[in-house]
Amino acid sequence: MSALSDLPPLRESLEAHGLLARKSLGQHFLLDLNITRKIARLAGVGEGDLAIEVGPGPGGLTRALLETGAEVIAVEKDERFLPLLQELAAACPGRLRIELADALTVDEAALAAGRPAQIVSNLPYNVGTPLLVKWLTGPFRPVSMTLMFQKEVAQRIVAAAGASAYGRLAVIAQACATAQIVMDAPARAFTPPPKVDSAVVRLTPRPERPEHAVLDALQTVTAAAFGQRRKMLRSSLKSLGGEALCAAAGIDPARRAETLSVAEFLDLSRAFIARA
Ligand code: SAM
Repeated sequence: MSALSDLPPLRESLEAHGLLARKSLGQHFLLDLNITRKIARLAGVGEGDLAIEVGPGPGGLTRALLETGAEVIAVEKDERFLPLLQELAAACPGRLRIELADALTVDEAALAAGRPAQIVSNLPYNVGTPLLVKWLTGPFRPVSMTLMFQKEVAQRIVAAAGASAYGRLAVIAQACATAQIVMDAPARAFTPPPKVDSAVVRLTPRPERPEHAVLDALQTVTAAAFGQRRKMLRSSLKSLGGEALCAAAGIDPARRAETLSVAEFLDLSRAFIARA
């Protein structure tokens, strides 16, 4: 049995297994271990930790996570990668579990079986945002998330009030977690290269995450407010109570969505629940 360091380069493994990237599954691979090691470092994963990796593909990031001494549960939808991932599992007995499943529906809490877990992923772009919302607002609470997104999506996650990228995603993400961009990745870092650059976002869920009813209301309020982001709140929130809702939350109805802080959106959401 070979050790991790004896495994062939990723490019050779892909060729040996005759694997080509599938666009429909958002497959853009990181084949440079220097880059995947940097992501593992930024994730802060180490000996004895449990990492859940979504979309291991050929296993470049998986190798880097395993090199830290962590245990990895890798959730992959494309069964073509199984033989390659099984070689990786054989190189570090008992530390890599491969789950052939759709990450959108998989139960991470059942996978982690009560252990704290970090999520680390070079996300498939077509499902990156729904997966993030699932991990931010769903029942499974990861210790942290270190996730590669298209750069434009990364900027929308971390945007501050007043910025052009500030919108629903920023409000929902920052209500549930602290978030910062920790690494840029140019399109040429991937095989095949995507059309746009990428960036890694590190998110740490807030222990005091708003309760479910507030998060539901936040979805409703931000959809209305940013649905007409150039309009004043008295008009964009009209169907939810308009001026009266703003008054109940102590917010000037002449303001526009993009000027409100996350805390003010939470005030509006609580006022919306109280008036319902
Ligand atoms: N981690 C690898 C890397 O960095 O080279 C591959 C990253 S690639 C951007 C995205 C991976 O996610 C692919 O392996 C793809 O098959 C997988 N994937 C796509 N949709 C998925 C889903 N719904 N559930 C689980 N894996 C998925």
